[in-house]
Amino acid sequence: MKFSFLSIILVFTLIISACKDKSSLPTKTDEHDELLEDKAELEQAYNLQKKISAQVFASKETEPVAANISDDAADDPSIWYNPAQPSESIIFGSNKKGGIVAYDLQGKKLAYYEVGNVNNLDVIYGFPHGEKSIDILGASNRSSQGIDLFEISKDGILQSLLPEGFPMDSKIDDVYGFCFGKTPDGKHYAIINGKNGVVRQYEIVSKNDAVDLQLAREIALDSQPEGMVTSQNGKTLYIGEEQLGIWQIGLHPDSTSKSLLTDSGEKNLNIKYDVEGLALLKTDSIEWLIASSQGNFSYAVFDVAAAHKYLGSFIIADGTNIDGAQETDGIEVSSDSLSTEFPKGVFMAQDGFNYDGEKQKAQNFKYVDVRAILELFEK
Ligand code: CA
Ligand code: CA
Ligand code: CA
Ligand code: CA
Ligand code: CA
Repeated sequence: MKFSFLSIILVFTLIISACKDKSSLPTKTDEHDELLEDKAELEQAYNLQKKISAQVFASKETEPVAANISDDAADDPSIWYNPAQPSESIIFGSNKKGGIVAYDLQGKKLAYYEVGNVNNLDVIYGFPHGEKSIDILGASNRSSQGIDLFEISKDGILQSLLPEGFPMDSKIDDVYGFCFGKTPDGKHYAIINGKNGVVRQYEIVSKNDAVDLQLAREIALDSQPEGMVTSQNGKTLYIGEEQLGIWQIGLHPDSTSKSLLTDSGEKNLNIKYDVEGLALLKTDSIEWLIASSQGNFSYAVFDVAAAHKYLGSFIIADGTNIDGAQETDGIEVSSDSLSTEFPKGVFMAQDGFNYDGEKQKAQNFKYVDVRAILELFEK
């Protein structure tokens, strides 16, 4: 009798814990955030991609991130230029399943910082902090629903500047995109957005040896944004509204300038939503805005100096040794001379479907020689 009573309790406990497990399982949209699982949609994306003729190849790829093969895990790459040893510059990549990975220019993992489900990353240089001028890596962290800031040491090691984190309030509903910006008056900003369209710009301040963030302004968009980037001259903030196009907004917090880039919408037949990662490629002669067009596995290029005229799109195609990139989230580009392999810089793209031959691996990031992209669109 006693035994069966215990059995009933045990069964109940099991049922309750099973229900609990189920309810705490991530929903499909959380777990496979943006990952195209619909076969028809996937086929359409591949078919649309075939219409883009301009192509480049990846010359390196990172080790896969620590995640399951089916996980949407890798998201946003960022480049830290090492001025003392350019060939030892570091690629930081976010892993939405647990942290920030540091890679060398060969794609080898150098470190993994298990700081939570980090979504987007960015690097800013030369922030005056106490007696020092420091480089900072910043991130939107979906585990803590806040902003993380790390000092990047001379050797590229991350050390948290906000040990307690910097949580958002519930007005930002699920933190998402992140970038830095520096206005001509020398102020440094950390900019974060939420899936609900709220964008916040914080001034980064240095006080008594600590770093703090002070709200400078808030912008509300109508639908989900993510990718953001600021111009080197510190005047413009670009925000991708995933199902709408790209906003050009004055970076100064008092600026009211806000316009939608006309060619960045889906009426441009080479662009298929979502608009995802954004990056700016600037050399002595050109400044191009590059956007990941996630719905057709390609990248659209706009000429900043010519009123953001659309120059064309390219894809990262399957090469002999390294596969191409599909369903890219974050991108980043640097025109710094990094190494003999990347003398004019590197373009980084997240790869949603990473294959080594026939074998699927967890997601990773691809490295493209910037010269290949310049050749495609430079007149
Ligand atoms: Ca994704
Ligand atoms: Ca980034
Ligand atoms: Ca997205
Ligand atoms: Ca791939
Ligand atoms: Ca691969």
